[in-house]
Amino acid sequence: MNSPTYDLMLCGGGVVGLSIAYQCASVGWNVLVVDSDEAGASSWAGAGILPASATVPALDPLEQLRALSHGLHKEWHHRLLKETGIDNEFRQCGGLHLGRTNAERATLSANRMWWEEHGIAYENWSMEELTRKVPSLRYLTELHGDLTSMYLPDECRLRNPRHLQALKKACLQLGVDVVEHCRIDKLETVGDRIVAARMGSRRFNAKRFCITSGAWASQLLRPLGIETGIMPVRGQMILYKMEQPPFPMVINDGHRYLVPRDDGHVLAGSCEEEVGFDSNTTAVMLQQLQEWAVGICPHLDPSRVEQTWAGLRPGSFDTYPYLGTLHPFENGFVAAGHFRHGLHWSPGTAVLMYQWMDNQKTDMDIMPFCVQRGQTLGNQLQNQSHPTQA
Ligand SMILES: Cc1cc2nc3c(=O)[nH]c(=O)nc-3n(C[C@H](O)[C@H](O)[C@H](O)COP(=O)(O)OP(=O)(O)OC[C@H]3O[C@@H](n4cnc5c(N)ncnc54)[C@H](O)[C@@H]3O)c2cc1C
Repeated sequence: MNSPTYDLMLCGGGVVGLSIAYQCASVGWNVLVVDSDEAGASSWAGAGILPASATVPALDPLEQLRALSHGLHKEWHHRLLKETGIDNEFRQCGGLHLGRTNAERATLSANRMWWEEHGIAYENWSMEELTRKVPSLRYLTELHGDLTSMYLPDECRLRNPRHLQALKKACLQLGVDVVEHCRIDKLETVGDRIVAARMGSRRFNAKRFCITSGAWASQLLRPLGIETGIMPVRGQMILYKMEQPPFPMVINDGHRYLVPRDDGHVLAGSCEEEVGFDSNTTAVMLQQLQEWAVGICPHLDPSRVEQTWAGLRPGSFDTYPYLGTLHPFENGFVAAGHFRHGLHWSPGTAVLMYQWMDNQKTDMDIMPFCVQRGQTLGNQLQNQSHPTQA
């Protein structure tokens, strides 16, 4: 069975695939999104932290992508709310960063220099300020007389399940075809073009194909002869339910965090585990997370646990996502490998990928994210002609 020919087919409907679909459909492209599960089901697992970003031009490509996305989140929140009526709970709630040990304090000192260089506002709160502004952390301040706490007013959060609902609804309203529970088995090629995506007896045609299958991207890329450093990295999460949010801001303690929701839910995460495609929770890790969470805020006792889960982040060997063309396939593209930042970096990725696929100048240079990094560059990369950086 053949499909109509789309301008773009997205192979994977996570937050990255849906965001690219939204961007491209907004400018009139005829778009198809195919997902082996429910669209958005995988990105659902994230915490929705949007860390404060550079306010001055940054040299680091990741900082550029972060800053581009950070600005777009505010805009997309308003647009999605207007278009779909769904509030994705984007909130500029601020973020508290704690340092309890000497090593953690040293890391925060280094971070301060980074924030200053990148024009990121922060406040160094005294113990008295911390106790006054966040009374629910009183226990922690009593325990650690020399606690360092830095507050970043521009740290934001969004509620990913709501964001994904809004994106999907907006896509459908724009005429995007979303095919769910349909696993792409293979991409068919003729010469230097991808001509179709095959799912059992179904075959989808498109002018362009973009692989947005997150941690599973290698399964579609490898048969095309394209190797990347994308791999699944599991993260586990605990969801608590309180009557009221015990604190308004995101609380960061090393790699762990607590994220409040408007309705009194609090997320506690997470961890980084390289266990392949196993997305089960483990009793050991949940116990560790639980002990850590109650040690930060005693209100988070086990009786408040509502749900636990694990998700697979699309890790990449150098922490850079893969964005760009799948050479030698001129109509093949990839946007995957966003690791711990896929929700945050998704609107920037969407805009850049649209510009790139439409052969426009991109808002920032995306060559640092090209697939060929980590391989011998050779003539392929040097000879390619594409407008970069506006
Ligand atoms: C515990 C946890 C906490 C996190 N917290 C944050 C956070 O606070 N902030 C942040 O920015 N990011 C966070 N992340 C990371 C973020 O969730 C990911 O970076 C993001 O989901 C990646 O989006 P994606 O669309 O690339 O991939 P995914 O969300 O994994 O979507 C890929 C989609 O492709 C589909 N698929 C796979 N193979 C196929 C196939 N063959 N055919 C069709 N479809 C296929 C899958 O079903 C899936 O829906 C967190 C992740 C986890 C696990």
